[in-house]
Amino acid sequence: MASPIQLIAPNGTKYTQPTGLFINNEFVPSESGNTLETLNPYDEAPIAKVASGNEKDVDNAVAAARAAFKSKLWRGLTPSERGALLWKLGDLCERDSHILATIDAWDNGKPYQQALDEDIAETISVFRYYAGWADKIYGQTIDVGSAKLAYTRHEPLGVCGQIIPWNFPIMMAAWKLGPALACGNTIVLKPAEQTPLSALYLASLIKEAGFPPGVVNIVNGLGNPVGVALSGHSGVDKVAFTGSTVTGKNIMKAAASNMKNVTLETGGKSPLLIFDDADLDQAVKWSHMGIMGGMGQVCTATSRIYVQDTIYDKYLSLLKDYTLNNTTIGSQFDESVNHGAQISKAQQDKILGYVQSGKDEGARLVTGGNAKEGKGYFVEPTIFADTTQDMKIVREEVFGPFAVIQSFKSEEDAIEKANDSDYGLGAAVFTKDIVKGHSVAHSIEAGMVWINSSQDSHPGIPFGGCKESGIGMELGAYALQAYTQVKAVHGQFLALLYKTRIISLTF
Ligand code: NAD
Repeated sequence: MASPIQLIAPNGTKYTQPTGLFINNEFVPSESGNTLETLNPYDEAPIAKVASGNEKDVDNAVAAARAAFKSKLWRGLTPSERGALLWKLGDLCERDSHILATIDAWDNGKPYQQALDEDIAETISVFRYYAGWADKIYGQTIDVGSAKLAYTRHEPLGVCGQIIPWNFPIMMAAWKLGPALACGNTIVLKPAEQTPLSALYLASLIKEAGFPPGVVNIVNGLGNPVGVALSGHSGVDKVAFTGSTVTGKNIMKAAASNMKNVTLETGGKSPLLIFDDADLDQAVKWSHMGIMGGMGQVCTATSRIYVQDTIYDKYLSLLKDYTLNNTTIGSQFDESVNHGAQISKAQQDKILGYVQSGKDEGARLVTGGNAKEGKGYFVEPTIFADTTQDMKIVREEVFGPFAVIQSFKSEEDAIEKANDSDYGLGAAVFTKDIVKGHSVAHSIEAGMVWINSSQDSHPGIPFGGCKESGIGMELGAYALQAYTQVKAVHGQFLALLYKTRIISLTF
């Protein structure tokens, strides 16, 4: 089961869908012959079956990546040649952006136009951004006196295992692949089992761009065995993961077997604070987008909303109206729709379970809370008000269109509530007072803070969390640190000096 298949998406797009594992630039069947089927979350109809790997497939992919890491075809490239390959990959993604957006909308349930304007546009930008970094990765010379030349090199780590989730299927692949390839590593990527299709299509573009065999390998399959095998593999030098905090902890444990370098981008329960001097219409618009965008399936979703008590009732009424007037639920390929299905039945059930929990714990349901009749994993945008810090819906990540709101009295109260969480991913603050905006931003325990917005992202700005939201940063120049090993070189030439009195050496 490795032959590509011809598919026609519900929007009429015809394209060739690879279905094998991608190892050494070839699409191959899984060793076991197992497959997994991917579904359209809108109507639960099957889309395609793709090969599903196991430990042996991971061994094969890691061996291919190791051979590529040693090969002159890859290591012999100049940094600018690596950059040119990444730039070409960005161009090919742009050429096929309509296909890539169709695949991710179909596989994930997100509206097509959102996939095109956000996920695919960012994928292209990320490849181009890291294309520019490939020949700008360098260390330092360190002056320790004239008898010694000391310097550092920033070398690739080797074989990187990359495990990604289903919420931004191709964009998460680009965030991982871009910096790793710019730094000269080789890769075994494991997409999420719910959304394997766009990564396989991307594999065909990676080959077309001219990346040598084995530089990027893709093994679809379940978390166990594929993710487990990859994170525990002795031939893997680094594991980078995006997904749940529980899985992130398991990956850390598995990675300890050979002390792999680890970066993790895990869960969140990000706070959004609205002070009474804020532009309220803007705060309503951004806070709605910050939790309902992507049907709330966004790790940085600003799901805990804290509003100053003086404007609490007014804000609630405006947010409810805005939500009811700006939600059209339905097919990802219907142009009028801005709210698609959740990824799976499991996620839909999980979110509905939190609705029940909110009601049981005495929170006030302002709007939403229901599934949609019939097929598809839909959940209405849901808002709970009058919540308290001890409620499960305030403490746990729901990963759905599910806002929990409460009031605060003062800046100190707002900061204390915002920081009262195991997570520390994103945070947002709305105020017209620039001093307060920055001072609150500095006090919040989070990897990223937005002042007067939510969910802003740019390839050049680092992205990551603290506390149980992760370790290390993606994007920006910071991601290069996550994919390089610093080597210090001591060039000691004192002996040579005594003999020859030559002070300079050429390295
Ligand atoms: P998950 O963490 O189980 O899966 C993410 C990826 O990890 C997938 O590729 C999966 O196959 C793989 N995986 C699963 N178990 C593994 C293991 N033991 N070792 C190695 N890899 C493994 O997430 P999920 O089940 O898809 O979703 C569950 C919850 O995770 C969601 O409700 C949400 O809270 C959270 N989530 C967060 C993000 C994020 O961007 N931070 C993304 C998706 C899901």
